[in-house]
Amino acid sequence: MKQNPFLAVDILTADQFTKENLQLVVRTVKDMEKLVLKKGANDILKGKIMTALFYEPSSRTFGSFITAMQRLGGGFIPLQGVTYSSVSKGESLPDTVRTFANYSDIVVIRHPEVGSAKIAAEFSSKPVINGGDGVGEHPTQALLDFYTIINHFGKIAGLTITMVGDLLNGRTIHSLSRILSQYNGVKLNFVSPKLLKLPSELKSRLELHKIIIYECEKLSEVLSDTDVLYITRVQKERFTDLGIYEKLKHHYIITTDVLKNAKKTAIVMHPFPRVGEISMDVDNDKRALYITDQMRNGMYVRMALLKLILLP
Ligand code: ASP
Repeated sequence: MKQNPFLAVDILTADQFTKENLQLVVRTVKDMEKLVLKKGANDILKGKIMTALFYEPSSRTFGSFITAMQRLGGGFIPLQGVTYSSVSKGESLPDTVRTFANYSDIVVIRHPEVGSAKIAAEFSSKPVINGGDGVGEHPTQALLDFYTIINHFGKIAGLTITMVGDLLNGRTIHSLSRILSQYNGVKLNFVSPKLLKLPSELKSRLELHKIIIYECEKLSEVLSDTDVLYITRVQKERFTDLGIYEKLKHHYIITTDVLKNAKKTAIVMHPFPRVGEISMDVDNDKRALYITDQMRNGMYVRMALLKLILLP
């Protein structure tokens, strides 16, 4: 068998996931799903400890990493609500990371500054996983989103994937679009208000691939052709002018009525938390995967990553 390319590796950007190594990830995620459904847990990571160092709020990423470690028999140091101090102004991030790298075998970090995970990795003697660095990236969310799509459709190539909402600040969008752009013939629709368009450098990078990109403001333009409808919230914490946030926050609201114009075979996803972008009645629609598959896959994917990084 080929060597495990993730062994002892930091996970900092979704660009690290290639079509080739994603096959190994997908296989490992499936194994984790089987494990949880059959036995609930095992102890392959017994004796290993994960630090969860979270400077920004988190429910799903934090919770699913903790349970992932526990289901594989490992332990964890849960650090949530750690006081933020700017990496450029203080030395607290390097010091904190070096401290917990001494105590544990892997560090998962979430921090409000872009590039913070990379800095943490430079100082850490143990592998670091980026659990979200400001408006930068969220590679493990992208992995679970990717897995949810490929597991549902059995393919990525040829799908039309529509991402809606705060494309400027939404790190899950930034990471997911990087992964998807590797698949020929994918069409990525980016639907947002003008002020929240995809960052232009990211758009230019995506354009280097053999995919189709289309940007617009009206969801109705692309909804009926969409296979994956990926909704995001407007990222309030990134706005200096909350008046602008208030104006934009409910620019798109997905209701059962809106979904009447979507394909019967489409799926609806959202990284959560939602703050009004999808009305609750949509939850009962069979196409809504955000509370079912997508969330469960978050745990399986994080189990798979921990296993691949920590075991040969
Ligand atoms: N939970 C995701 C993140 O941390 C999405 C969001 O917060 O809107 O980026």
